[in-house]
Amino acid sequence: MANYADDMITDLLDRKLPLDQVYTLQSDKDLGRRDQVLALWQRRLGWTEPVLAVIQEHLFVVETASGERVTRCDCGAEFGDYRANWKEEALVYERNPRDGEIYVGSHAADPDWQILREFYCPGCATLLDVEPVPVGYPFIHSFIPEL
Ligand SMILES: [Zn+2]
Repeated sequence: MANYADDMITDLLDRKLPLDQVYTLQSDKDLGRRDQVLALWQRRLGWTEPVLAVIQEHLFVVETASGERVTRCDCGAEFGDYRANWKEEALVYERNPRDGEIYVGSHAADPDWQILREFYCPGCATLLDVEPVPVGYPFIHSFIPEL
């Protein structure tokens, strides 16, 4: 089991790692890397509660002082129990796919068939996710980490 230098993992998190080294990390099924990443995030975030998982960019599962496991943005805003879909607590904007900002002309979807659903953090207004989905489609729940 390889144990990568913290500098390498830090560069990965900061998107500074060269692609050939990213490929090396991706192809190496190093089970210890998860703990390294969590330790680095724990230091970066400065939270006293343990970071249990990284959901995606900006979102983490944290165990609070009361023992609850919640999804939390790096700004501190919480989205409730980690097993629930955090998107239910986010600010949502349903963008017309033909508004000309994302897709233009023939590249834009028919708004009667598709919307671009954007999810923003209510604490810091960071764009957290975008779903191009059929109109009326429920929020996609990407995954529930096994903790
Ligand atoms: Zn936030």
